[in-house]
Amino acid sequence: VTDWQGKNVTVAGLGVSGIPAAKVLHGLGAHVTVVNDGDDERARAQAAELRTLGVTVRLGDGDTLPEGTELIVTTPGWKPDKPLFLAADRAGVPVWGDVELAWRLRGLDGREPAPWLAVTGTNGKTTTVQMLASILTAAGLRTAAVGNIGVSLLDAVLGEERYDVLAVELSSYQLHWAPSLRAHSAAVLNLAPDHLDWHGSMAAYAADKGRIYEGNQVACVYNAADPATEDLVRAADVEEGCRAVGFTLGTPAPSQLGVVEGILVDRAFVENRHKNAQELAEVSDVRPPAPHNIANALAAAALARAFGVPATAVRDGLRAFTPDAHRIAHVADVDGVAYIDDSKATNTHAAEASLGAYESIVWIAGGLAKGADFDELVARSAKRLRGAVLIGADRALIREALARHAPEVPVVDLDRTDTGAMLQAVREARRLAAAGDTVLLAPACASMDMFTNYNQRGDAFAEAVRELGTR
Ligand code: ADP
Repeated sequence: VTDWQGKNVTVAGLGVSGIPAAKVLHGLGAHVTVVNDGDDERARAQAAELRTLGVTVRLGDGDTLPEGTELIVTTPGWKPDKPLFLAADRAGVPVWGDVELAWRLRGLDGREPAPWLAVTGTNGKTTTVQMLASILTAAGLRTAAVGNIGVSLLDAVLGEERYDVLAVELSSYQLHWAPSLRAHSAAVLNLAPDHLDWHGSMAAYAADKGRIYEGNQVACVYNAADPATEDLVRAADVEEGCRAVGFTLGTPAPSQLGVVEGILVDRAFVENRHKNAQELAEVSDVRPPAPHNIANALAAAALARAFGVPATAVRDGLRAFTPDAHRIAHVADVDGVAYIDDSKATNTHAAEASLGAYESIVWIAGGLAKGADFDELVARSAKRLRGAVLIGADRALIREALARHAPEVPVVDLDRTDTGAMLQAVREARRLAAAGDTVLLAPACASMDMFTNYNQRGDAFAEAVRELGTR
């Protein structure tokens, strides 16, 4: 689509992606109709604002395809089997997500659009994209971390700011709805079951993630320890000359990045023809230096190197990087016990990574399980557990897994789902912990049963720890 004038576009869903999309499309001259399932007070206020601009808004019915629709631009979270999309399919109406829209609007102002270095995976996306942006910045490039946090995609593509290259985080939902996206290079960090209720199956979830490699120009970056990611590279249709580049926490094979004696090394993009490996940075340059986070750093380095960034910028960029809040954040030491906030560990795969980073742990866990199975996580982490404190709606699932795989570990099961439960959880954890231990909030669950989001959950933890320290 190049001429938007008078085009009938239906925007599916008010909200963080729908409202900006409606405004941009309206500004381009399209006839925009927003449809939304909800009809609450917030939706009405948002609708009123859009209507003053001349956008049509239909509340309380997100499933009937408006007459004459030529294109749907959807909120990525809407499920593909929703009646609206089935109707669109029957009528031959294309459906784009927010990423597809941004991708198609690149270069609208006539300037050469910035290439995208794209990142997906079950866990580590935000961190990796931020590390990547930090490395690109250290190389003197104008860039931004785009996606979940940082700059929004539409702003990155249409805003005033000029970029040489973008570091873009993409979810499986977004990739599902982005058929024509073609990244310069892309990485899939890892693949573990998540959001299967949305995608329908693990195969469908993997296939949507794998879309990120389609049409890559320079490199498809995969996790050598996670063969499913390499399978996705093999299945992708890429530009001629595009290479598969693996990353590993061990010694890298040729065409991989890896770690040798505490040094991050690159054997895929060597600057000096006579060398077969390029030193990039020390493990201690990565914060926190937990194994999963070194993997994130290697993936970021691989994408930056694919873009031609020199080795020294990788080191400088990693040193300049500070992790976001609630991602293995060290809150305080109290009586020789370290308190770590990994509230962002909202699924079992993430929690396993942070439990793997410490030795003697009092684990605070629980919340909304989203259909997860805790057996593997608990079985693999059992030997590191000094104790566990369980909170939230689905804590029984974790308690049962602990009983099966770690019967010796003392468990405090707090029968509470109120916000104040965190203070009690931290006190119980302190009771279980001895000097030298780590109290780790890595809930392996979503937070919405007790908190607004994982930020609030992490803040409650930090506040409770501070209270301990001052008593
Ligand atoms: P995402 O954007 O994919 O949700 P984040 O970078 O915000 O990922 O990290 C979310 C959580 O996932 C972290 O708090 C940590 O517990 C865990 N994590 C981060 N990187 C990895 C990784 N490479 N493998 C497994 N877990 C990870």
